[in-house]
Amino acid sequence: MTNSFALPVISAPQHYNKALAPTAVPSGGRLIDNYGRPITYLRLAVTDRCNLRCFYCMPETMKFVPQKEILSYEEMLRLVTVAAEMGIRKIRITGGEPFVRKDIMRFLWAVRAIEGIEEIHITTNGVLTAPLMPELRAIGINSINLSIDSFDRERFHAITRRDDFEAVQRTFYQVLEHDIPLKVNSVVMEGKNTDDILPLAALTKEYPFEMRFIEEMPFNGSDNRAAITWNHTKILEVLRGEYPTMQKIEGDIHSTSVNYAIEGHRGTVGIIAGYSRTFCGACNRIRVTAKGMLKTCLYDNGVLDLKRLLRDGADDTTVRAEILQTIAHRFKDGYEAEEYARTQVSVLDSMSAIGG
Ligand code: SAM
Ligand code: SF4
Repeated sequence: MTNSFALPVISAPQHYNKALAPTAVPSGGRLIDNYGRPITYLRLAVTDRCNLRCFYCMPETMKFVPQKEILSYEEMLRLVTVAAEMGIRKIRITGGEPFVRKDIMRFLWAVRAIEGIEEIHITTNGVLTAPLMPELRAIGINSINLSIDSFDRERFHAITRRDDFEAVQRTFYQVLEHDIPLKVNSVVMEGKNTDDILPLAALTKEYPFEMRFIEEMPFNGSDNRAAITWNHTKILEVLRGEYPTMQKIEGDIHSTSVNYAIEGHRGTVGIIAGYSRTFCGACNRIRVTAKGMLKTCLYDNGVLDLKRLLRDGADDTTVRAEILQTIAHRFKDGYEAEEYARTQVSVLDSMSAIGG
């Protein structure tokens, strides 16, 4: 492959021990990694900015990336089009908070029009989302993931550092009202909201949504690994204590959550072992951060600078070739990715830049 422009800052092959790596699978231009995992799901962070300051995600005084360092909508649409040509079928719009970015609804309509993209999902904190529900429904958004760490206004305030619970609660009801499939995400944290596990799970009796409890992960702009004490086993114990007969639901192998049905409940509960990383073997997802870095694992620190490629004038053939090359040197799992990332940086990025 020839390159007439500057190489990306980090190119994946350098990190990789080729002697140990399996051979890349011939893919015919489709995204299949060196472990034979087909990639069909792209998570796109459209901004790193946010109207909340969840303490597990970012410090109170967050230094956001200058706007010119964030991918423009045109750049993102070009990347999504290339990705769709390479087999991406599902896209999640995330951030930061997607709805703080100006003109986001126009962008969503444009993504909807891209050939090959079959599903668009959104992750939001719900502060600005309720009034947008009719239009989101008209666009055909396939599901909404709403982050609510507590249904108690004061605890919500303490966790997010903002007093916006009522707006978020409105979004919860509005998503259901508009019949858009809803998942609620709650990060479980020692001393903050472990008392909320059962009240949140209890909401699934009346309302048909997936309640998902997430292990806290080390992505808050500091090194918080030592403080992470709640894992999936502990969360499961709490749920089983209250619902001893709940039944595991056998589902999609790509799902990061293990879900359970509770007798008499309209919704389900689930656990995402994001820190224990129990799901890497079937991972079908890649990420593009707000700054335009391609991540082939949540725990890597960016393995291809797509923004640099685009702004240096790369044509689509070159962009595709660089992406394929990167996918062909993917980390086996989140542990391998993190080990490598920590040789490059001491602290992993805030989740707001990555997109969760
Ligand atoms: N602002 C939107 C929201 O909060 O839903 C979208 C972006 S947010 C970064 C995406 C998801 O990442 C949220 O569900 C949030 O709870 C989760 N998240 C953020 N920091 C996390 C951390 N340190 N550990 C686990 N999950 C985290
Ligand atoms: Fe904002 Fe979402 Fe991070 Fe909370 S988790 S600070 S809502 S980006």
